[in-house]
Amino acid sequence: MAVDATQAYDDNNIFAKILRGEIPNKTVYEDEYALAFHDINPQAPHHVLVIPKGKYVSWDDFSATASDAEIAGFTRAVGHVAREAGWVVPGYRLLVNIGQDGHQEVPHLHVHIFAGKPLGPMLVRG
Ligand code: 5GP
Repeated sequence: MAVDATQAYDDNNIFAKILRGEIPNKTVYEDEYALAFHDINPQAPHHVLVIPKGKYVSWDDFSATASDAEIAGFTRAVGHVAREAGWVVPGYRLLVNIGQDGHQEVPHLHVHIFAGKPLGPMLVRG
């Protein structure tokens, strides 16, 4: 079910449980601000999710209310994951789904990183 990007944070969302260690994940990187792990249902040869450690429902919530340190730390973590994986050349794609029209399903901000093949046009028209 799609998320309302402005809803209150739900401590029982699946990524909150992953952050608490209640659900296993395949971690690729972790620091003070971010956790990166493989998507359970990959949509590309490489599909990693990067989530902030803080409780942010959506990009809207994070960009409006996170501290400068959290925003910097999280942004650097996303770049670090892609760089360390060797995806800068030939390239990769970042995607953040926000709210209902954005098709956000998990109400904890996550950045998708897709890589491993030419990813084609940005959106299917229609
Ligand atoms: P959204 O549509 O919210 O942008 O993307 C949610 C993503 O979370 C989907 O790509 C989905 O496969 C992934 N996902 C959902 N539940 C789990 C889980 O329990 N573990 C992992 N690793 N990924 C999950």
